[in-house]
Amino acid sequence: MQSLRNLLQEAQKSGVAIGHFNISDLVLVKAVFAAAREQNVPVLVGLSEGEREFVGTRPIAAFIRALREEFDFPIFLNADHTHSLAKGLEAAKSGFDSIVFDLSALPFEENIRQTKQAVEALKSINPNMLVEGEIGDIGTGSEIHESSPDLSKFLTTTEEATHFVQSTGVDILAPAVGNMHGMLRSMVDGETKKHLDIPRIAAIKQAAGVFLTLHGGSGTDDADFRRAIAAGINIVHINTELRVAWRHGLEQGLTQHPDEVVPYKILPPAVEAVKQVVAGRLRLFNGDRHFAQAT
Ligand SMILES: [Zn+2]
Repeated sequence: MQSLRNLLQEAQKSGVAIGHFNISDLVLVKAVFAAAREQNVPVLVGLSEGEREFVGTRPIAAFIRALREEFDFPIFLNADHTHSLAKGLEAAKSGFDSIVFDLSALPFEENIRQTKQAVEALKSINPNMLVEGEIGDIGTGSEIHESSPDLSKFLTTTEEATHFVQSTGVDILAPAVGNMHGMLRSMVDGETKKHLDIPRIAAIKQAAGVFLTLHGGSGTDDADFRRAIAAGINIVHINTELRVAWRHGLEQGLTQHPDEVVPYKILPPAVEAVKQVVAGRLRLFNGDRHFAQAT
């Protein structure tokens, strides 16, 4: 089994990106895993602090590791948006493969100081754990927003990116490049799309020289995704689109079986709905790549 770092390097060489999908129940895990296996591409599943609290940090790590070993398949686990070192250490000790250490709400220099400490502490537990740092403002909450925040003045500059990466030693950087967590109602309805600052991504990539993650990918224009990956994005996060599909699929399952109480008879439409979304995103992020051998 290749390491996540190797797979990211391979993706970078091939000009493709690894899809990151948030999960908080078995429906989502099944859907993401099935879609990735069908296309035979590596995949990241992530859980924010809230999602981890619901599922259990150690239990989900054991479950994903069991899937990886049982199917000899490159599924990796990320501790998404972790806001304290204590929560980060818990994820590292539980066996998470990577972490998004997010102190982007703090003043820039304080973010640098604490992220540097976290990189050292986390790597002392697991030297192979990839640590991602966050700068700029991309909003919070992977849900449906009624109005769009103005994030244009918090876009990441190449100077900030370089200074942050060199000072902290992070493996991965999450810049603010026009992306935003959550979706507007008009995006859920397919009437509007998010657009990205592609020249900024290319400049940050060249200056910072690390793996780049695009957060808040839900609702982004397909052509912008392709250009962003070509410009240096290595990981793309999708959450809200899955949550919308999860709800629709669940409602469908309940409607189709009004008198049913057996979960595994009600839930398949929810798995299928999420799987369709994941499959479409994986095809887009992976271009025409198909691993001849996934291991
Ligand atoms: Zn995010």
